[in-house]
Amino acid sequence: MGQFADRCDPGRRAWIAEAVRVVEADANRSADTHLHVFPLPAAWGVDLYLKDESVHPTGSLKHRLARSLFLYGLANGWICEGTTIIEASSGSTAVSEAYFARLLGLPFVAVMPASTSPEKIALIEFYGGRCHLVDDPSSIYAESRRLARECGGHFMDQFTYAERATDWRGNNNIAEAIFEQMALERYPEPSWVVVGAGTGGTSATIGRYARYRRFATRVAVVDPEGSAFFDAYERGDTSGTAPGSRIEGIGRPRVEPSFLPSVIDRMIRVPDAASVAGMRWAAEVAGLGVGGSTGTNLWGAALLIAEMVERGERGSVVTLICDGADRYAHTYGSDAWLTQQGLDVAPYLAGLRAFRATGASPTAGSG
Ligand SMILES: *Cc1c(COP(=O)(O)O)cnc(C)c1O
Repeated sequence: MGQFADRCDPGRRAWIAEAVRVVEADANRSADTHLHVFPLPAAWGVDLYLKDESVHPTGSLKHRLARSLFLYGLANGWICEGTTIIEASSGSTAVSEAYFARLLGLPFVAVMPASTSPEKIALIEFYGGRCHLVDDPSSIYAESRRLARECGGHFMDQFTYAERATDWRGNNNIAEAIFEQMALERYPEPSWVVVGAGTGGTSATIGRYARYRRFATRVAVVDPEGSAFFDAYERGDTSGTAPGSRIEGIGRPRVEPSFLPSVIDRMIRVPDAASVAGMRWAAEVAGLGVGGSTGTNLWGAALLIAEMVERGERGSVVTLICDGADRYAHTYGSDAWLTQQGLDVAPYLAGLRAFRATGASPTAGSG
């Protein structure tokens, strides 16, 4: 029996060091994302801000998550030279991870349902990723694990690791960035931060950060139709399942391990037609082309602001632009698609217009 069991490998450590530098350099080349002011009547005494996560190099807030997951995998020694990176994602996470895998010269495979749109597949392949299509959407996790086992690769597993891969105490996470950018506003400590939950990572980071920094800021999570999160939160358990969401990026058919209900102060159910109305309203009022989950955020923010106006409370509300409208031209941007899905956006858009005119809580058909 030897005295030492030695796994030192200077070559491996040097590769990891260089990989960390490359990932950090990507961040270092980027400026912070804008915090836009969303125009509302000044007399209300309630200000709404939109943190624009669509301007990252890969177009969504998943750029931050992909960076964190790569750094977590590198720092844990899970990702080394030549490691194939595998992810179960049909969406923005796969796009952002493909980008970082290419930066590091690593193969990337996205495991996704065969129903995934050709535009998404093209975007992942554009960044050098490979798409592995499976017929049964619920099998993507098991299939990712199997692939990783077979090729000695690393399954990133965003739905498990999103909440812990991000440094919740700071290190320029999204929460710290928001509070720093709010510093010179008339109400620098937001009454509410409104976000959706896909992995749940964003709400976990903001909720933890607010508690850690002893802010009074509350976290509201908006949840679309067909998601398991709202009912699980209301019931206080995490076992339930649901059909799944039509709003890309948020709402899940199961309660994901990264979803942390204990740091969420309120959940808000949002009809899909209200989310699409929110997208249109952002374009109409602020000239911003935003994605569906941003529309969900805006509907939730409007409900909370109406409540503040009604109570005579002053303060600020912050929400996110999660991605841009361009990814959704053939879905939420298409009247034919909306009709086919049975979504009637007009009454909700009228509700948002009436809200902005009067401060009254938006409902379908008000105004
Ligand atoms: C992932 C995602 C979200 C939700 O963020 P999580 O941190 O995963 O909860 C919202 N909108 C879009 C477009 C997303 O891709």
